[in-house]
Amino acid sequence: MKIFTTKESLTKYLEDLRNNGKSIGFVPTMGALHQGHLSLLAQSQQQTDLSVCSIFVNPTQFNDPRDLEKYPRPIESDIKKLEQAGCDVLFNPEVSEMYAGNEQWHLDLGELEHLLEGKFRPGHYQGVTQVVFKLFNIVKPDMAFFGQKDYQQFMVIQKMVDLLHLPVKLVMCPILRETDGLAMSSRNIHLSPDDRQHALILSKTLNWLKQNFNADEIASLSKHCEDMIKAEADIQLEYFEIANGETLHNADQKSKQIVALVAAKVGKTRLIDNMIIRS
Ligand code: AMP
Repeated sequence: MKIFTTKESLTKYLEDLRNNGKSIGFVPTMGALHQGHLSLLAQSQQQTDLSVCSIFVNPTQFNDPRDLEKYPRPIESDIKKLEQAGCDVLFNPEVSEMYAGNEQWHLDLGELEHLLEGKFRPGHYQGVTQVVFKLFNIVKPDMAFFGQKDYQQFMVIQKMVDLLHLPVKLVMCPILRETDGLAMSSRNIHLSPDDRQHALILSKTLNWLKQNFNADEIASLSKHCEDMIKAEADIQLEYFEIANGETLHNADQKSKQIVALVAAKVGKTRLIDNMIIRS
């Protein structure tokens, strides 16, 4: 695997390959890699000639400085995992390589920016689009692979691609889970053994909803799910929404696509999860 830390060297390397007709797949991450990240890489490897993964903990998308500070950064083991998985290229820049100074960035994402995650993490999606735009500009991928785990993030990035006419095809990849149902996440390492058990209520509730969706009205299903989560010890529910999968507004029975999304603090760790209820 080739490792690049500067934009210039990576751009030059990829330019030659692109000129030789190679298609480029891109998997942006913040590192602390798990099987979920590697499943995105596997998709890229299946669908493109050359796969580029980035590891960059992007400061502009963190609204809580403590969260940024304690974000795990096991770069040596990440490199091993990528090498074992056959990744072609890793881009691992320093913050100074990506940001010249106190840059201003604003993209009008409409209401998508302020719903759900946006409500609890003000400015988060401006930071996400800012860094993904920069990364797309450097890598110029034909295809980019993102997880359904961050469902709203996928919608936001698709919106940016549409607004700016960026020549990249986005692919949403399914959520990988531990055998007990917990969605894989770099933040799971912060969970104590007790937190780890309490956290299972998120996927259990989503599964319950999927199985019982046709049995009741959306409002009462939603209330039941909220109560299930609130009844669990050491969990602070931020939101549980049964949303229209195309707009993220509240779903109704006529919505073509329906997704249930949840965010909660488990002990001190904030987790998100979701499940597609109707596709
Ligand atoms: P992150 O490093 O958390 O920014 O995630 C990088 C990419 O991996 C994003 O597109 C995530 O949606 C995706 N991802 C994170 N967790 C999972 C998971 N459990 N299954 C599949 N993809 C995931």
